[in-house]
Amino acid sequence: MTTRPPDRQLGRERTALFRSLTFREHDTGGHPENAGRLVAIDTALERLDLLEGRPDIPFSAAPDEVLARVHDPRYIAGLREFSMQGGGWLDADTAVSPRSVDAAALAAGAGVAAVDAALEGRARRGFVLARPPGHHATPSRGMGFCLFNTAAVAAAHALDRGLDRVLIVDWDVHHGNGTQDAFYQTDQVLFCSIHQWPLYPGTGAASERGTGRGAGYTLNVPLPPGANDDAYTEVFDQIILPAANAFRPRLVLISAGFDAHANDPLGSMQVTELGFNDLTRRVVQVAEEHADGRVVAFLEGGYDPAALAASVVATLVALDGDGASLANALRPEDGGTETRHDE
Ligand SMILES: [Zn+2]
Repeated sequence: MTTRPPDRQLGRERTALFRSLTFREHDTGGHPENAGRLVAIDTALERLDLLEGRPDIPFSAAPDEVLARVHDPRYIAGLREFSMQGGGWLDADTAVSPRSVDAAALAAGAGVAAVDAALEGRARRGFVLARPPGHHATPSRGMGFCLFNTAAVAAAHALDRGLDRVLIVDWDVHHGNGTQDAFYQTDQVLFCSIHQWPLYPGTGAASERGTGRGAGYTLNVPLPPGANDDAYTEVFDQIILPAANAFRPRLVLISAGFDAHANDPLGSMQVTELGFNDLTRRVVQVAEEHADGRVVAFLEGGYDPAALAASVVATLVALDGDGASLANALRPEDGGTETRHDE
C-alpha cells in the first residue's frame, strides 16, 4: 500500500541462495559433516520465511577446466575415479561416496554462478549453502572434509573474468590452508583468515604472509581458544578491515564457517550468531565501499545443527541488509513470520 523507495535505497538486497538436494548426497555416514547440517539450515530458512522472493540463479556442476583453475588435473581425475569406484576415505577425516564428486563439483559451479550473477548485477549478494565444504582442499589434494575448494574456484573464476582484486575473508574456526595455498603467490587475491590456534590443520601462523608477488597478500590472525564476539569484532576493526579497505577489492568472498560458534563441538571459541551478524555487516560495508556491494558467502564448517542454522540466518539477514528482521529471525520459535512482511 505505502510507497517505498527501491530496496537499494534502503540498503537492502535480496541475497541469492544456492541450494540443491545434490549437496545432501555427499554421504559421510555418521561424520559431524553430514547432510543433517543442510536439513537444519533449510528448516530454519523455511520456518522464518526467508526463502521466498529471492533471485533464482541457475547453476550447474563446474566442468573440469574450471576446477583446474585451482586444482591439479591429476587430482581431479584421481578423485573422480576414486568416487566412481565407490569411494572411501581420502584421509582420516575426509569421506568420499559415489555422489561426493558430483556434489563438490556442483558446489563449485554454484560459486561460479554466484560470481557471475554478482558481476552481471543479477544478484549482488549470494550465499552458497553447499557441502562438502572447501577451504581445506589444496590445489593437489582434498583434506579436512573438503574435496574441491569452492571459494578458491569462485575467486579464480572472477580473476579469469578480468577482475584483479578479490578479497576472501575466512572466519571458519579452522585455518583455510587450501585457499591460502591457492593464492599464496599472487597479489590479486587478499586472503584474510581468523582462526583458533593451535588447531587443525596446524597452518595459519601470523608469519605466513605470502611469497613473491603475493608477499603481504595473505593475512593470518590466529587466536587462542575462548575468543568471543568482542574479540572477533576487534580483530576485524583493527586488523582485517583496514587491510581489506587498503586492498580495495572489486569482489568480496566469505568462507563462512560457523564452527567458531560457542556451541560448536569441534571448535573452542565463543562466538554467537549475533557475532556472525556483526562480522557480516562489516564485510558488507567493505564491499559497499569498494566492490559495488558484491559479496558471495560460502558455507564451510559448523557442526552444531541449531547453532549452525541460527548463524546462517544471522549471516543471511546481514547480507540482505535487513537489520530490522534480525530480532524476528533469531527468535527461537514461531520465527516472527507475521511481522516480517515489511518489504
Ligand atoms: Zn572448520
